[in-house]
Amino acid sequence: MADRAATEERLRSLDGAHDEMVAASRDTNADDEHDPEGATIAFERAQLAALRRQAGDHLAEVDAALRRLDDGTYGGCERCGRPIAPARLEARPTARTCVACPARP
Ligand SMILES: [Zn+2]
Repeated sequence: MADRAATEERLRSLDGAHDEMVAASRDTNADDEHDPEGATIAFERAQLAALRRQAGDHLAEVDAALRRLDDGTYGGCERCGRPIAPARLEARPTARTCVACPARP
C-alpha cells in the first residue's frame, strides 16, 4: 500500500478544498439577498446548489476513504478485492474500485 501519511495528506487537502468551496458559496449567497438581478442570481444559486451538492458528495467520499485508511482496507478494490493501481490512487485518492471495475453497478 502507498505511504499512508502521503495519502492522508492528499485526502485532507481535498477536504480543505471542500470547506473553501462551501464557505465561498455561503458568502455569495449572503451578497445575493438584495441584488436586483433576479434571473442571473437564480441561475447562480442553482449553480451554487449543484456545487454544494457535489462538495457534499465529495466530502462523503473523502470521509469514507479516511475510514478505509483507518481500518486498513484503503487501496483495495471493493468489488474484486485486488489492489488499486497506485497511479489511479494518485490521480483519484478516493477511488474505491480498480480500473477494471466500474465505480457503480
Ligand atoms: Zn476491481
